[in-house]
Amino acid sequence: MNVHIIRDEYCPLAVYQNVFEKLSKSAGVIRFIKSKDDNLVADDTDDMYDEKEREPMNQHHSFLSFSQLFDICEKYRKKYNIDKADHVFLLSGANNYKNWFSNMDHEGNNYFVQVTEWELFFGAEIEKSYIICYQVMAWLLKRNMFSSEKEVMDAVHHNPIGCMMDFCQKKKDITLKIRTADLCPKCLEIIKSEDVPFNLLNQVFTLWEEIRKNIVFRERADFLNFTGRIIINPILKTLSFPDYGGIQIKLPPKEMAFYQLFMKEDKGIFLAYLDNHKGILIDFYFRITGNDGPALDNIYQYPYNVASQLISKINHKLEKNLGVTLASYYKIERTLNEPHKIIINREYVTTC
Ligand SMILES: [Zn+2]
Repeated sequence: MNVHIIRDEYCPLAVYQNVFEKLSKSAGVIRFIKSKDDNLVADDTDDMYDEKEREPMNQHHSFLSFSQLFDICEKYRKKYNIDKADHVFLLSGANNYKNWFSNMDHEGNNYFVQVTEWELFFGAEIEKSYIICYQVMAWLLKRNMFSSEKEVMDAVHHNPIGCMMDFCQKKKDITLKIRTADLCPKCLEIIKSEDVPFNLLNQVFTLWEEIRKNIVFRERADFLNFTGRIIINPILKTLSFPDYGGIQIKLPPKEMAFYQLFMKEDKGIFLAYLDNHKGILIDFYFRITGNDGPALDNIYQYPYNVASQLISKINHKLEKNLGVTLASYYKIERTLNEPHKIIINREYVTTC
């Protein structure tokens, strides 16, 4: 079963990549295929993360109709001669007139999932790619359970019970649906009677379970005020948090080298004296990229805009993935006249 994941112009590349990465890790009968429109090979260079991707998304107030959204899928099919039996999912940064999070074109195998506004329901602490992945899997399952829009609408639950088929008239109710990531006995009966393939179910439930665990885990760790380990892997350019449900953050080389520098200097660094640490920074950067980078030259320059930007980009990623409270241990921050530093006790830090 081939499932193409594409995006429209309003969906930031970084969101797209986060979603695709999570989907493509799930093994099974569903095979996720990257959009041919994006050249995503060099996915961890410094250039990819340009400022355009970082605009707050709610500044776009584009509205599209369902048919316009499905048309984008159809155009993609024609352009690349996609097999009719393949599924095409559009990740859309636009709003739609009916204010739905996602929908399926019941005539074809086209779908859309909105990538904006999730923060309104889950708070800024949520990594929205999990929710978007939940939606993708839910529609693929629905496609296998129902053969018409009427069948879907007949089966929805108007009162939320924490089942995939909750209609979520109040958009807020979607939190319950995703925290349970489950199906009610009535819907399981439909699955049984429709002979939905076991391997498809298995893949859906496995990914859902991972999503649920991540959302709940984060909240619990936050609640228990528990400090988790961080593993820095400069080769893979990742920060991993094995105690927080295996959350992984990818950093481009410059950010990675910068983060390593602040992790090494546990007393902190005043940005004004950053060039005192030039040698170490270049060394970290060299080990990641193989070149000792003129790329870094502007970091040391007054008024330290580049350095501050790097810090805010790193911090933003940490907050997005860990939530504000947990991220505070791992972020590069300064208070009053103190230097910038990462406060985590280094015994929790491992570098591969
Ligand atoms: Zn149900």
